[in-house]
Amino acid sequence: MEIYLDANATTPVLPQARAAALAAMAEDYGNPSSVHSAGLKARALMDQVRERARRVLGAPASGRLFFVSGATEGIQTAVLSALQALRARRDAGEAIPPTLLYGATEHKAVPEALRHWNRLLGLELQLLAIPVGRDGRHDLGWLGEHAPQAGLVCTMAANNETGVISDLDGIAAVLRDSRALWLVDGVQALGKLPLRLSERRIDYAPFSGHKLYAPKGIGLLYVREGVPFTPLLAGGGQEGAQRAGTENVSGIAALGAVLQALEEGQSFRDAATLARFRERLAEALQQAFPGLVFNAPLAQCLPTTLNFAVPGVASKLLLDLFDAGGLRVSGGSACSAGLAAPSYVLEAMGLADWQCSAAVRLSFGPANDEAFIAEACTRILACGESLRASCLNPGVSGDHQPREGLSRHVVAGACCYVLSDAATRRSLVVDPVPELVEPLAQWLRCQGHALAAVLDTHSHGDHESAAPLLRRAMQASEEVDGLGWPLGADSIELGARQLRRLAIPGHTEDSQAYLLHEADGALRLVFTGDMLMPGALGRSDFAQSAPLAYAPSLRKLAAALQPHTLLLPGHDYADAQATTLQTERRVQPLLDQLLAGRLDAEAFAAAKAELEREIAPTAYQTMACGARVETRCEQAVDLGWEAVEALRARHPDLQLIDVREPYEQRLGQAPALGLPEQDVPLSTLLDALPDWLNARRPLLFVCRSGNRSAQAARALRRLGLDEAWSVAGGLALMPQAA
Ligand code: PLP
Repeated sequence: MEIYLDANATTPVLPQARAAALAAMAEDYGNPSSVHSAGLKARALMDQVRERARRVLGAPASGRLFFVSGATEGIQTAVLSALQALRARRDAGEAIPPTLLYGATEHKAVPEALRHWNRLLGLELQLLAIPVGRDGRHDLGWLGEHAPQAGLVCTMAANNETGVISDLDGIAAVLRDSRALWLVDGVQALGKLPLRLSERRIDYAPFSGHKLYAPKGIGLLYVREGVPFTPLLAGGGQEGAQRAGTENVSGIAALGAVLQALEEGQSFRDAATLARFRERLAEALQQAFPGLVFNAPLAQCLPTTLNFAVPGVASKLLLDLFDAGGLRVSGGSACSAGLAAPSYVLEAMGLADWQCSAAVRLSFGPANDEAFIAEACTRILACGESLRASCLNPGVSGDHQPREGLSRHVVAGACCYVLSDAATRRSLVVDPVPELVEPLAQWLRCQGHALAAVLDTHSHGDHESAAPLLRRAMQASEEVDGLGWPLGADSIELGARQLRRLAIPGHTEDSQAYLLHEADGALRLVFTGDMLMPGALGRSDFAQSAPLAYAPSLRKLAAALQPHTLLLPGHDYADAQATTLQTERRVQPLLDQLLAGRLDAEAFAAAKAELEREIAPTAYQTMACGARVETRCEQAVDLGWEAVEALRARHPDLQLIDVREPYEQRLGQAPALGLPEQDVPLSTLLDALPDWLNARRPLLFVCRSGNRSAQAARALRRLGLDEAWSVAGGLALMPQAA
């Protein structure tokens, strides 16, 4: 069973709403504008639902209540109406207020609509965000000062990310003597808070049905009597010519069934019960993730919303973990490629940066029952256990398998590597970034591993070295040089392996390559820093670069390598995982010319400077550390679940590789599909690469959503294994019967 805890995004359709929609399609299919019996039936249905909505919203008989497609349309209509009225006043020669105010934590639909119509109507008024306090509530003092200069004030009733409930009575008191129009976004309040529209001087209030168990595509807009109104849609005269377009009768019927359920009170839990449910979820979360903090004061929030962060645990990790545990929650902030864009809502509340970036939102709905909450709590605890067993749950140690081998952690394209030796319980860290210090220290402590070294491959241009922070967190006291190399040491021993260094000035004067030799002397891998990255050479136009030394350094590095040595870069903007000299010579003509002896150091430096004349920032909006010359590998590696059987028939030795992380795998195994299966988390893919490249067996990768598996398959293809595929959509799209 799926435990859906993302009700603030949308809700499933209530069974009686589904039934009402189907009945309307079957029986009330007439056009409400038609004057025959079929039309009259549909109109009667619409009028009934409108009356019910009035009662539920506490709206006066005098105001208008339109059916619209959803809140976004309602917001556009309200903003257009208010701004058009201001323009008419200005055109008539009247001085109009110079500002439009909106809460700093409003849903984007509000400020974007203000910007859009302000520009389109040529008003050019100033948009100002009403600041909120640490509790997420509007600063009423600020509002009082600014309201006299405002033409429109927009404040939501409750926030979608945090659940913070606005002080509408306080705002109403501040606006009592103001001429400003007042829009209240009621989306998250519907069915959860009494809005009492007739008792408050709210001018416009938009709502969306799908946030409360009605289908998507139906909503309401309340407009107070006597306030300006301009239709957004003109056409066939529907809704008294104020919202044209044939009405969504089945959606209206479904919304009516939800409103009926609200009035009758049997399908929905009351506020006290919902608060009790939230308490149980909050307790389970705190038990599962010690140190968890709630990002908004629960007492001032909707009882159905919890927004939290766990120190040292990224929101992306928690989302993957919850999803694997069958819990659908959402990030409080948008994530892309492992980098969480901080939540503007939490930033406006003045929360710490880590909270704004690591936020997770859990929201349920008033139709959820006791059994659902109990199951949700059980699964939350299982998620906490799984994280603990991976040594990633802050402040707790787990029953883990001691880690052996190499793992890779990427933040905004910057790669950090951890090489661990289980026997001696020592780990080596290369190029740590600040975001990883806390989780790495937690992981090392939980593993009982000492630091063999924390090395930087060079002094980084795009971020501070986090090595001193990590050393301090681990209380490492060994004397080291500026890049973390132990003073006086020729090599660093890690169990039977040995790490040596090779000076490779170029990208920076101080660049080093770190060479990992196996017990038998084989050079298994080299940490190349930014000297050589997949599809790029590191730039050498910094003040601390040594452009003329670049060519000799590359030749020196090439001479040190063995045929199968893997090269691990400091940045991997292409998600290539690792590379080889052979691969880079294939995709980088300049490198190939140099190593083939066709260029000298000066000509190489000049050609390289040309490449680096204008390097655009990376996709993460950080400074690029090199000019990429390879176009992204867009080979089609994806295939749907329906194609797996045919692939197996073509490749009887096909192997399935689950690249989800162990904390996800523990919560549910990927289906074996009758194929030999191996669990190789993407973070430890580097450990498996040499064997796969050697065995040349066809591989089918799978993960939760298809992103990580596609990355793995593309990486293998780039390194020359052509028979690598990824299941598109991953486990999320797996047919139930498979
Ligand atoms: N306002 C709030 C507070 C919301 O949560 C949402 C949806 O997330 C909207 C407006 C926009 O609603 P819709 O996308 O249904 O038009």
